[in-house]
Amino acid sequence: MTAVQEDSGVLAGERRMLIDGELVEAAGGATFDVEHPASEQVVGVAADGTVDDIGRAVGAARRAFDTGDWAHDLEFRFHCLMQLHAALEADKERLRRILVTEVGCPVTVTGSQIESPIAEVKHWAEHARSFEYLVDTGVHDTQLGPARRKLHYEPVGVVGAITPWNVPFYLNIAETIPALMAGNTVVLKPAQLTPWSGSELGRIIAEQTDIPAGVFNVVTSNANEVGAALSADPRVDMITFTGSTATGRAILAAGASTVKKTLLELGGKSAHIVLDDADFGSALPMAAMMACVMSGQSCVLPSRILLPRSRYDEGLGVLKASMENFPMGDPWTPGNMQGPQISRTQREKVLGLIDSGLKSGARLITGGGVPDQLPTGYYVQPTLLADVAPDSRIAQEEIFGPVLTVTPYDTDDEAVAIANNSIYGLSGEVSSADVDRAVSIATRMRTGNVTINGKSHFGIDSPFGGTKQSGLGYRNGTQGFIEYLHIKTIGMPA
Ligand code: ADP
Repeated sequence: MTAVQEDSGVLAGERRMLIDGELVEAAGGATFDVEHPASEQVVGVAADGTVDDIGRAVGAARRAFDTGDWAHDLEFRFHCLMQLHAALEADKERLRRILVTEVGCPVTVTGSQIESPIAEVKHWAEHARSFEYLVDTGVHDTQLGPARRKLHYEPVGVVGAITPWNVPFYLNIAETIPALMAGNTVVLKPAQLTPWSGSELGRIIAEQTDIPAGVFNVVTSNANEVGAALSADPRVDMITFTGSTATGRAILAAGASTVKKTLLELGGKSAHIVLDDADFGSALPMAAMMACVMSGQSCVLPSRILLPRSRYDEGLGVLKASMENFPMGDPWTPGNMQGPQISRTQREKVLGLIDSGLKSGARLITGGGVPDQLPTGYYVQPTLLADVAPDSRIAQEEIFGPVLTVTPYDTDDEAVAIANNSIYGLSGEVSSADVDRAVSIATRMRTGNVTINGKSHFGIDSPFGGTKQSGLGYRNGTQGFIEYLHIKTIGMPA
């Protein structure tokens, strides 16, 4: 073991899955290894669930939805979710250690991945309890005379939740808790690299809440076929998914034969338009931090920096200094803000894309490889590439690493055109001393969400969703709750 790991909080998580109220091994008993990306060592195992296992979980969820009281008893759901909130609060240091172990994210930046999602459980419990499920829209004129109409908000049914590895505990909560509180039953399929953030949630639900058998199931697996089987199962009414655009397309196609409702939060290649009047000293260090924290493994990261040609060298200088001084290293050491990439494969992908950028004519300003001082662990240096052509691969593909590409522009119109030159439309940013000018640029960006001068668009109380190939539908806000409901319009005598 390396010195890093001897002092660390590395902890193995629950190896069993939750199916129909029981904590179980995979059919056949197979397991797969879980690695700590900072030490490159296997820490433990998770159940390698099969297509058969996911089928049993879907069957349990279907039964619980069709024959149980879950969909009809809001007060009971509130009681169960508040129990879950208390249990997660009590177990949060264990959950944090498991998160750092399987993701390698620095312990210093886990607040948004542990405290925030735990608070969201309470938020959704309360939001759902005060939501109006039957809304009278009054008397409507129709050709057959007046009719009163009421809208009834009803659960969709069985929801399959497929989650990625970058912020696994947060997304397991974000994808399943509003669905549960809306009265649906759920089958969660966590990502291969991060099974424990899901299986721990299953264990806590089984051991510490009154959530009935079948209402919440977790199937971990090392095989993509298991997620594919969930998204194709005709007994599943809705899929909620966060992950790559390629997998999102496969999920849409798999759900087509049963016209499944599909909520997708996919990839991004967001642009940060830095206007010529911007305060570089605040905008650019923040941009560098966003690229490095989470090792760039964030779908909303504004990874394409667009700088005005009149202040291009000045901007590159500020970005370079910020990236070179970024605190990177052992994720267990407080103060470090950038840890390793999650796996060897991911690191190779990031290094390969940097290489492709250099071959396509980009200029390396800093970084570009593996840090000498961190030979163990999947670290990548904060990397700044300048003169990046808008159509080149590194300007078009999601890198998911601590890499910023910089492209100069001459006019605001050109900056907007470069920002919009993408199949993605998840997020974006504008920096300017003139907020009205920034807002007018923001409204022209074909993207789901925009941050102006570092003021975040993201939060539980505001809708979040991508345009173009970045997604379908919304998370968060009331809109994000209504996604898990069907609106039945009832016409009746006036
Ligand atoms: P990455 O490529 O970074 O691993 P993915 O988008 O492929 O990201 O993975 C996100 C989630 O989607 C994981 O839980 C993974 O198991 C799951 N998944 C992968 N392939 C499929 C598929 N064809 N159908 C459904 N889910 C899938």
